[in-house]
Amino acid sequence: MGDLGRSIREGSQDGASIRQWIEQGGVVVTASDRAARALTASYHRDRLAEGLSAWPTPQILDWRSFVQSAFEERSCNGRLLLNAAQEQALWAEIAAHRGQLAALLEGPLHSVARLAMEAHRLLSTYAPRFLNPTARSAWQQDAAEFSNWIAAFDRHCASGQLLSPSRLPLELMVQLEADTGPRPPLLLAGFDRLLPVQRRLFDAWGEWRELAAAPPAAKVHFHAAPNTDAELAACALWCSRQLAENPHARLLVITQNAAARQSRGQMERVFLQHLRRTGSLPEDLFEFSLGISLGQGALIKGAAMMLRWLAGQALSESELDWLFASNQIAANAGESAALHMQMRTLRRRGQQQPQWTLRSFVSQPHASRDLPADWLQRVGEVHLQMEAATHRSRSPLEWAEALPQWLEAAGWPGFQPLSSADFQALRSWRQAVETAGSLGFDGRQIGYKDFLSALLRLLNETLFAPESHDAPILIAGPAESAGLTADGIWFLGADEDNWPPAGPLHPLLPLEVQRSAGMPHATAELDGELAQAITTRLLASAPEVQFSFARQRESTETRPSRLIVALAGSPLPLPPELAPPPLPGVQTVCFEDVCRVPLAAANAPGGASVLTAQSQCPFRAFATARLGAQNWEAAQAGLTPAQRGQLLHAVLHSIWDGPPQGIRSQSELNGISDRTAFVSCHVEAVFNAEIPAELRARMPRRYLELEELRLTRLLADWLELEASRAAFVVLGTEVERSVTLAGFTLKLRLDRIDRLNDDSLLVVDYKTGGVSPKSWELPRPEDVQLPLYAGFALDKEKETLGGLVFAKVRPGELTFAGRLADAKTTLLSNLSGSSALVKNPLTAEQLIGWRDCIEQLARDFVEGKAEVDPREAPQTCERCGLESLCRIRDSQSIGEDEESEEDADE
Ligand code: SF4
Repeated sequence: MGDLGRSIREGSQDGASIRQWIEQGGVVVTASDRAARALTASYHRDRLAEGLSAWPTPQILDWRSFVQSAFEERSCNGRLLLNAAQEQALWAEIAAHRGQLAALLEGPLHSVARLAMEAHRLLSTYAPRFLNPTARSAWQQDAAEFSNWIAAFDRHCASGQLLSPSRLPLELMVQLEADTGPRPPLLLAGFDRLLPVQRRLFDAWGEWRELAAAPPAAKVHFHAAPNTDAELAACALWCSRQLAENPHARLLVITQNAAARQSRGQMERVFLQHLRRTGSLPEDLFEFSLGISLGQGALIKGAAMMLRWLAGQALSESELDWLFASNQIAANAGESAALHMQMRTLRRRGQQQPQWTLRSFVSQPHASRDLPADWLQRVGEVHLQMEAATHRSRSPLEWAEALPQWLEAAGWPGFQPLSSADFQALRSWRQAVETAGSLGFDGRQIGYKDFLSALLRLLNETLFAPESHDAPILIAGPAESAGLTADGIWFLGADEDNWPPAGPLHPLLPLEVQRSAGMPHATAELDGELAQAITTRLLASAPEVQFSFARQRESTETRPSRLIVALAGSPLPLPPELAPPPLPGVQTVCFEDVCRVPLAAANAPGGASVLTAQSQCPFRAFATARLGAQNWEAAQAGLTPAQRGQLLHAVLHSIWDGPPQGIRSQSELNGISDRTAFVSCHVEAVFNAEIPAELRARMPRRYLELEELRLTRLLADWLELEASRAAFVVLGTEVERSVTLAGFTLKLRLDRIDRLNDDSLLVVDYKTGGVSPKSWELPRPEDVQLPLYAGFALDKEKETLGGLVFAKVRPGELTFAGRLADAKTTLLSNLSGSSALVKNPLTAEQLIGWRDCIEQLARDFVEGKAEVDPREAPQTCERCGLESLCRIRDSQSIGEDEESEEDADE
């Protein structure tokens, strides 16, 4: 852990006292294992500095180890001392057999078990008399229920010869009172306050005393920073100055949120920006004392995913992408590339799925050809072994032996070289597997899923930090810093809300019991006393202590901690030397990128969408039409908006495609007596023909039936509107036309062309999303699809344009929207004068404007104009999905993507 470099300051009174104590046969007991390691390391360093080459191992033990070794030295009567995972499992089993809690899922059940375990520890530590059932007889409601749990826990422990670590000090006390033999004196170090059970145990032990506090720091300051970043920057600058003055200085930074990922990230960012020492990289100058959850590490996350996948459970598409990208399931680079390629191929074939089991992944068409044979054989064999094994219950020990073997056989942790931190994570992983194996302490047999979820829980609850690299700056929480000393301390976040820290009462223990026993957070006074003790201890742990707080934190004003004001005086603004230097001048030089790569080919994929993209953002057009970039949307369990759009287009094409099955005109439409039955036939035929077998196999039959019903109703309603139109004839659907602009050819497919009652043509485009003719507005249209069709796809010699419309076929909004020369006469006679179709007729000027604009867009595209220039940021970018390619987020803040139905009409 990251505290081995902390030492008792060289030549300090503490170091001399400890040495003398140990040499006289005494034992040092520290409040935490962190403090024990720090004192031991310091002791060894001092002996080395004295020129010694060998000396006896010092008796320096943390509180838990001291109690355990003293207990084991005497007797444990054959009882098994439970580890934390075993005790939690026992509490979970008790809770699962109680009333309503029996219905809880495993996650919540273990949360309750953790609460019960903590309440039991609090009682054992602060108020052991309540371990006697008679003392709990007056407890009510939740506390009364918890009292029953304690009784059940006691019965389990008695019958199974088990012992909770929380009871160990009490048991030891009884042994000490019965054992009158001589015992070495104890010197206590780093205890902010002695808990009742600790005081009683030390009294029962015999001679003990606390290490005398060092004199308080000579230099104490309290700083007020304008905000959190400035506070962190000041702390980093102070550390830099300290290290510049004394390159061997040991510094301690105390923060309230050392474990929280977000705070950690912010600290890392600011420290990397401001920490400087000649000859050192900023990242080598500091380390965190507390680790992060073992399960969050990439290597362990990969192992957990493989254990699920290989056993037949499904992984989400993004999980599988992540697993393949981590290379943990590939034996070499070739396998890794093939797995990545397979994911892309599945996408291209439209075979994406929101979830993949191993079986469904390897049984895709062509998988045996596309995936490496070695990989298929390896994972296939492990899968078969696991599938066979996971059908029966086994002891956790057996599972713990089998899991690493399966993982290894499947190739984990992959072919890439491991770092030192990876090897340490692997060691912690093995320990976690062994601990999960110890859950068989009571002879239970469990299924694979239960074992795996116990292991995953353990991985998430286990903190992991790579071994210390002896960085000069240690970042720790206030309580964890107990027993550590340094050449200088900076205490961050000393504001009124943070210090003293407040917390909730324990929900399973009666309020009066918590108050009378002085349990944590039982009263504000108790929290204040503990914070005062910690602060006093910190003041005596270094010759210089700096406190700071940010006047503004997360958009709220804060005030200085009154406790710190009482000890260090009112805060003062940061001195100039601790103010972050002004940002260096802008290092980005703007220049106009005039280099363009003209289009060499005579055509480009994408139809009208190329020019729409050119108008929305030139880079988007370049990336999609010339680089082949694609937005990667998450697969869905049901039909995607695009698939629904395709089906709707296909049904309307089928309806208006003319005889023998379809119709061609409004008069034929009006001749159909049962339109719903008519539409239903077309929907059924299209669903049968258009939905691929593998997609059909993935979806429940009933779901597809409901989709058919939904589409039938929607289109039957739509035909009602078509029936009310002025007479028209459908000239064609899915009409293919080619248009050549600026030397390149676009292949277009028009949804439909109608001949109106005045012989002019209406260009119709079906839309299921929210669209408006406003998107055609010049000078920079959001969409040029219909203006392109209207202006270039018709034969001007033979065809007269009567209008261009979106046919909006969406539930609750069945309507036409667009521009017609005379909408009231040629489209719908019942339109009011205020209708947009009437008020905004199609004009010759509009057509000329669109033509000019589209021709310019085509020229720009052909010339290679590809600026990152969204038409309307951030909305345009939110619908684009190419941010990672164009890097616009590097310079602009863009909101989250919104989901919108897409049409499939290109
Ligand atoms: S994300 Fe925005 S800037 Fe980037 S290509 Fe798309 S529209 Fe252009």
